[in-house]
Amino acid sequence: MSIEQQRGPATGPSGSPPSAVVGTTPPVFAVIDPASLEVVAHVADQGADDARAAADAACSAFRSWSRTAPRRRSEILHRAYELMIRDRDSLAALISRENGKSLSDAAGEVTYAAEFFRWFAEEAVRPGGDFGESPAGGTRTLVTHRPVGVAALVTPWNFPAAMITRKIGPALAAGCTAVVKPAAETPLTALAVARLLTEAGLPDGVITVVTTTDSSGVVGAWLDDERIRKISFTGSTAVGRLLLRHAADRVVNASMELGGNAPFIVADDADLDAAVAGAMIAKFRNGGQACTAANRFYVHSAVAAAFVERFGAAVEQLTVGPAAGGAAIGPLISEAALRRVTRTVEEAVAAGARISHRAADADAPGHFYPPTVLVDVPAGAAILQEEIFGPVAAITTWDTEEELLELVNDSEYGLAAYVFSGELGRALRLGEAIEAGMVGINRGLVSDPSAPFGGVKQSGLGREGARDGLREFQETRYLSVDWPA
Ligand code: NAD
Repeated sequence: MSIEQQRGPATGPSGSPPSAVVGTTPPVFAVIDPASLEVVAHVADQGADDARAAADAACSAFRSWSRTAPRRRSEILHRAYELMIRDRDSLAALISRENGKSLSDAAGEVTYAAEFFRWFAEEAVRPGGDFGESPAGGTRTLVTHRPVGVAALVTPWNFPAAMITRKIGPALAAGCTAVVKPAAETPLTALAVARLLTEAGLPDGVITVVTTTDSSGVVGAWLDDERIRKISFTGSTAVGRLLLRHAADRVVNASMELGGNAPFIVADDADLDAAVAGAMIAKFRNGGQACTAANRFYVHSAVAAAFVERFGAAVEQLTVGPAAGGAAIGPLISEAALRRVTRTVEEAVAAGARISHRAADADAPGHFYPPTVLVDVPAGAAILQEEIFGPVAAITTWDTEEELLELVNDSEYGLAAYVFSGELGRALRLGEAIEAGMVGINRGLVSDPSAPFGGVKQSGLGREGARDGLREFQETRYLSVDWPA
């Protein structure tokens, strides 16, 4: 079984932007550049039968891969890290073409994605375990962490490289084999990563990428397959709920990285330059299409005018357009996303919000939306409750910490949050009181392969990265041993 279940050639050499090559055997689907609306390539549109064939391959490979020495698994992951860094520019160009994000965001993503391979190469040789004496004496307990089995990995389009390596890295480190379904918007990056793993020495069948427009057919086939013991999903809370329900039928081990609604808090004693710099990253990295994106800004009323003036000036400087032209902000992923962001802003304005600053729009045919700052957003406005997933900053003000925490924690989500304050004790106090899995203190970025990434409440279950990410692909077992005196 080949690592990619492609029926025909779909992309160029490893990591290179593909030319528009059509798969030789239908059905296929088109991958569209959201900046130009041109067809980038066609890839195989696979279905439930292909999903089961991929599971067959992963099952056949499991026995040998799970028994492969941790050091060997580590070496393959480390080589994959080196190959991603070698191909950083071509991978970044590929990500920009199918996802639309700026070249600098794409290059940053490739580095971030590669770091998951490096981190889990290091973790692979530390599977951990425990040894103890039972309290009654006479027996000993041997605790080990075994690979959970064949895993199904389902990923979104917004970080097409990093969301995949964040799952493949720990799965391979733990000794699992996997079937992978990337988003239909961005299959090419997944295929490029798979090719690099082959080049790094990964045996056939250990990872198989299935490209499809029938996500429920493919993922449903896996969740119905008793050989699949793990589902690791990154995407929206709505789809996560569906998959959790399905996984419940066979009590499949589930990790869920879901939606967010991150608050960005600026206290009256914050360093405003640092707060503006952090806000630009937290809001506009990936054009606002990040689960950790700052979604709602809570700025202390004493500094709100100064913050809005400086932040708005920086927003107006942002260039919007195709990545190839060097723009800082690319398009939204689809026409539907553009309609949703447009409507969300219109509804906020109808509810009383005001557009204070806006960048110049792109002069290009894609799904562009100009970075926009909204002020006077009324508490209770939908834009403060829903994931915007676009380059729009909704700003509201606060006066007391009690009032602030009530507003901030009034959300079904709990993924990321950001706090800017000149007094570290105050920032830490607020950081602990916010119901979120990750809090950036005086910084606008929380993603780090060595830290446990994940959310509380309806933002998810489980953690990726760190030691925790490895544990998501392991099961704890123990042997109770009669120990002669
Ligand atoms: P999505 O939920 O629509 O899709 C995610 C993946 O699930 C895609 O591969 C998609 O094809 C697949 N899918 C969709 N419907 C399915 C179904 N019925 N059955 C099986 N699979 C299905 O999300 P998206 O639009 O691709 O990504 C944006 C969302 O992802 C946002 O909500 C964002 O916050 C979230 N996200 C979360 C994290 C995190 O780490 N918590 C990271 C990135 C994105």
